[in-house]
Amino acid sequence: CGIVGYIGHRDAYPVLIKGLKRLEYRGYDSAGIVLFDGSNLKLSKTKGKVSDLEAKAEAENTKVGKIGMGHTRWATHGVPNDVNSHPHYSNSGNLVIIHNGIIENYEPIKKELINRGYTFKSDTDTEVLINLIEDVKKKENVQLGKAVQIALNQVVGAYAIAVFDKEKPNEIVVARLGSPLAIGIGDDEFFIASDASPFIEYTSNAIYLEDEEMAVVRLHKPMIVRKIKDDSSVDPYVQELQMNLEQ
Ligand code: GLU
Repeated sequence: CGIVGYIGHRDAYPVLIKGLKRLEYRGYDSAGIVLFDGSNLKLSKTKGKVSDLEAKAEAENTKVGKIGMGHTRWATHGVPNDVNSHPHYSNSGNLVIIHNGIIENYEPIKKELINRGYTFKSDTDTEVLINLIEDVKKKENVQLGKAVQIALNQVVGAYAIAVFDKEKPNEIVVARLGSPLAIGIGDDEFFIASDASPFIEYTSNAIYLEDEEMAVVRLHKPMIVRKIKDDSSVDPYVQELQMNLEQ
């Protein structure tokens, strides 16, 4: 029920954990993080509180990297347990997703993917979405952003998602329909979150994605915002956030 992401020059772990704590008010039953350490993805997730996640990340040594994503889950499909917690990998292990919301038509998509040889570890709708994205990416031979867009045009539901591809480690792809998603723009660094509270201390510039918009958030490059449905480009409105340090 809360998402957070970071790509830039800082250590991502403290940004993510602090961000998840700021989003705790949204309510959740599980929490997880994934970081990219330059060559590998490191993932820790657990049923329970962000403090349980911190203990697990410490034990599993998953705290290193300057790119990462974090999630607090409010279970809708699959009971609250470690396996159903986010993030979720695709079958290849290259793609990883965090998702708030519901993919309503996940069952027929899951059946189709199973027919084509995909396997599933969790009972979530989210793991279906990341494998659909992987399937599209392979079949259509397209970049991550395009694959996310094509996949989202096949799903019915509500979402705020962030997707990362280990093979394209300079970018995070985000999209929203029905769940909030803000992007904080720093000095060659970007923050992604359900609201601005996780990044207000780092930057006062933010874009709030509108419903049916997606963005490719890339280091050293201008951000691309597009409509999911028709691929038309959007000129994003950058808001100046009011800092209230007492909050
Ligand atoms: N539908 C997803 C799940 O049950 C995401 C729930 C959420 O918004 O946290 O895993």
